[in-house]
Amino acid sequence: MNCMWCDAPGVTKTKKDCYWIMPDGRSAIEILKIPAFTCKACGSYLSDEMNHEIDMALYARELPQNEKQITYQQLMKSPYKNIFSME
Ligand SMILES: [Zn+2]
Repeated sequence: MNCMWCDAPGVTKTKKDCYWIMPDGRSAIEILKIPAFTCKACGSYLSDEMNHEIDMALYARELPQNEKQITYQQLMKSPYKNIFSME
């Protein structure tokens, strides 16, 4: 496949560790092994879709308390918050 930024061929899949600001804006968490791409010219990066998926997951899911690190897999397996409950 070609790079989504510079259109160079030969982009490969990789995994990337990224710090992410939590939705409250005050804390950060390191997310490990996020599926990513590597381009020889641009380096490694996440797709826009992946960025969006992680933003939504951090907003909607119940994360382990006081963890500074979580793997992408753990994040996507975390239960949804019960944000629509009125009780
Ligand atoms: Zn590129």
